[in-house]
Formats: sequence, C-alpha cells, structure tokens
Amino acid sequence: MGDSIRRQYNCAICGKQHDIVLPLNISRDKGNFPFAHVFLHKMERDGNIEEKDIDILTTLYIDADLAIRHVEVKKLVKSDIIFKNDSKNIISRLMEEIARLQEENARLVRALKTATKG
Ligand SMILES: [Zn+2]
Repeated sequence: MGDSIRRQYNCAICGKQHDIVLPLNISRDKGNFPFAHVFLHKMERDGNIEEKDIDILTTLYIDADLAIRHVEVKKLVKSDIIFKNDSKNIISRLMEEIARLQEENARLVRALKTATKG
C-alpha cells in the first residue's frame, strides 16, 4: 500500500459493501471537507443478469482523515450521458433550423421583390 488506503462503503443499489482504494494525497488541495469523490462502478448484484451492465454513479463524501462520511448511489440512465451523441443531435437540429430559416428568408425576399415590383 504505502501511498494509498483501502476503504469500504455500502452501496444501496448493489446491496453490498464495496472496497475502494484511495490515494493518500486525494484530499490534498481540497478546500472544503468532506469533499465529493465521484466515479462510476458496475452493478454487482448477484443473479440479476439484466442489470449486470448498469453503471452506478457513485458519490463518496470523504473527510480530511479519508473517512467516508456519506455515500450517494444512482443508476446511470442513458439520458444522463449527454456528451457525444447528444451534441451530434443538437448540431444536426441546429443545421436543420438554419436551413429552415434560410428558406424562410429566401421566401420573404422573393415576396418583398414581388410586392415592390407591383
Ligand atoms: Zn454498487
């Protein structure tokens, strides 16, 4: 060990106690205690094959002595992951919106020309 310490926390979703190894310097540069340590762990409940691959968003609140004061666990659902796929969706939606506005603009310009001609 030396530069790390093993801690345990109760996970309400897996219904188990998990081990975690924390580097001893993890609390360095943290202004406030307890600080939040956030990570994902895989579902570990026995026999529940359907939920085996579920990621669990885990937040440990750790004090200056590296004791775990509080644990929050939450199943990560797909809509929580907004990164890559969603930014693609947003961009394609914006591109569609831009194209629609350009069409609308062209139509207005044509209408204006017709109106000023007559
Ligand atoms: Zn768990």
